Amino acid sequence: MPALSQRLGRAETAAAVVMSTRAREMRAAGHNVISLAIGEPDFATPEVAIAAAAKSARDGLTKYPPVDGLPVLKTAIQRKFARDQKIDFALNEIMVSNGGKQAIFNAFAATLDEGDEIVIPSPYWSSYALTAQFLGGVAVPVSCPENNGFRLRPEDLDAAITPRTKWVVLNAPNNPTGAAYSAEQLQDLAAVLERHPHVWIFSDEIYEHLRYDGLGSISIAAVAPQLRDRTLVMSGVSKTYAMTGWRIGFSGGPAALIRAMTVVQSHATAGISTVGQAAAAAVLDAPQAMVAEMVAAYHRRRDMVVAMLRRAPGMTCAVPEGAFYVFPSIAGCIGRTTAGGRPIETDRDFAVALLEEQHVALVHGAAFGMSPHVRISYATDDASLEEACNRIIRFCEDLR
Ligand code: PLP
Repeated sequence: MPALSQRLGRAETAAAVVMSTRAREMRAAGHNVISLAIGEPDFATPEVAIAAAAKSARDGLTKYPPVDGLPVLKTAIQRKFARDQKIDFALNEIMVSNGGKQAIFNAFAATLDEGDEIVIPSPYWSSYALTAQFLGGVAVPVSCPENNGFRLRPEDLDAAITPRTKWVVLNAPNNPTGAAYSAEQLQDLAAVLERHPHVWIFSDEIYEHLRYDGLGSISIAAVAPQLRDRTLVMSGVSKTYAMTGWRIGFSGGPAALIRAMTVVQSHATAGISTVGQAAAAAVLDAPQAMVAEMVAAYHRRRDMVVAMLRRAPGMTCAVPEGAFYVFPSIAGCIGRTTAGGRPIETDRDFAVALLEEQHVALVHGAAFGMSPHVRISYATDDASLEEACNRIIRFCEDLR
């Protein structure tokens, strides 16, 4: 076979994908596997989105769209940013991408040179580091200790920034910990960032509506307008509206950066599916009660999962403020042996053994840069969650 690129050697497959693939294989082999490995809402796409997609297809909205997004969606996003995050973006400060994920690729590809550093609060969603590495950047994880609610401390942020820093990534509510920030906490981080004017700020707000502390969406771009000319805010419809498969994400930021990201996107994928854009525009402009209903369900599930996992010997589980993950420590399970005779030396051992012996898939903390933890997604129906938690409790009780 002719050679593949050296760059490809820097791209690992995300652990969540590896675990859910293994779960799928085991299911195909006849096992009753419950997968809590992937951040995928179990709810159906809102009807208003489906109707808009169908109508747009029938109406002939089926030709190449503008690379940066259809005007109907860009204006809906503009209204959404103003309504939810209290940020006013001009239309040339907004672009649509294939999910939030492509916004990361666009932003990094448009700005990174070989060896540039990306400061990433850890634990983190692995895509930032993997995408940065793929593009020649260097991920600089900064530990966000559990005893600080898994939040980034301003002094740690300050210490991590060097002359080579190109981006600081913020992600709140956070995947995998659910940690979120108050306006004051964001202001403290902004005060540090103000002292480093060579740094771009990537604010991943894809879980903005999934907050259980009553504080609602809080964006650093609104809290710290002095950083607006170098802050990129990313969000999308995947998590808020249970529309992961429609692949619609969006970003708001300085016009020059958006223009550069649009150039990247024009070469990678060109415009985004027109029917998906029509669906996203409809759901963003629809009455938002459906979001409140889903958030109430996640809230209930979070409370159930935390309460149940606290009964698992060897696990300690903090209460997350947002998103749909818990990130318990399994420190008390390390050094023990499973009922099936598997030694647990690492959180990966724990995840693999739990899947093999109790048929529950989750993701080990090392994949997010913090061990020994596991990430459990509770974006799954209540009955499956309860059964999965019972299996986890049993697995921990059986450790010797
Ligand atoms: N950002 C975070 C923190 C995520 O967890 C995810 C998906 O898991 C995304 C972005 C990407 O979302 P999308 O499906 O819109 O690409």
